[in-house]
Amino acid sequence: MTEITEHLREIVERVARATRLAERTTNVRIVAVSKQKTRDDVAEAFRAGQRDFGESYVQEAVPKIDALRDLDIDWHFIGALQTNKTRLVAEKFRWVHTVDRAKIAARLNEQRPHFAEPLNVLIQVNQARETQKSGAAVEDVRALAREIAALPRLKLRGLMTIPPAAADPTPYFRELASLHAQLRREGFELDTLSMGMSADFERAIAAGSNCVRIGTAIFGPRV
Ligand SMILES: *Cc1c(COP(=O)(O)O)cnc(C)c1O
Repeated sequence: MTEITEHLREIVERVARATRLAERTTNVRIVAVSKQKTRDDVAEAFRAGQRDFGESYVQEAVPKIDALRDLDIDWHFIGALQTNKTRLVAEKFRWVHTVDRAKIAARLNEQRPHFAEPLNVLIQVNQARETQKSGAAVEDVRALAREIAALPRLKLRGLMTIPPAAADPTPYFRELASLHAQLRREGFELDTLSMGMSADFERAIAAGSNCVRIGTAIFGPRV
């Protein structure tokens, strides 16, 4: 068994265990983050059963996506979104985790090809208001959700966060889960809560995550 296949099995097992411990019945989606990894690495994880893959840089992702178009991969865009890159994201991906303003949402809606299903969208929330990080402020999420929900070529699926690096992530995970639940009570049809990476995905699942984004623990360190 190759290293990627082996790592992937371990991760699938750890995610399943964390899901059981959290006493949840629905599956947790694993997005294998393949940034800085080769198309062969992606193909290998695909052969091991992995279907969702995440990329952070449009320029790097597009040739990989094109080269692997014969594999039925669900590509997730998880990087910072600049307005001049929205067209490629709208054309090449099925999911975007990082929508944080109305202007980006409007462009994605306009540029999503009509033969494709609506683009699945998550709102990235910048809970600690870190200046170097993208994401909507907590108090702006509701208004942005309303705008996205009105766009026909987008399907608002939920929220995403990356907690501050040095902090205990659990309070952030819990705050986002509670905002997600609140929006659902208000009528938004959200089903996805994207939180947790290699170092903290078990804590994220314990707090309510049902979508984890895992790079290093599957593909090894990035150089
Ligand atoms: C790189 C990245 C990940 C994966 O991080 P690992 O620590 O390697 O698991 C997850 N989410 C986002 C947004 C990333 O940019």
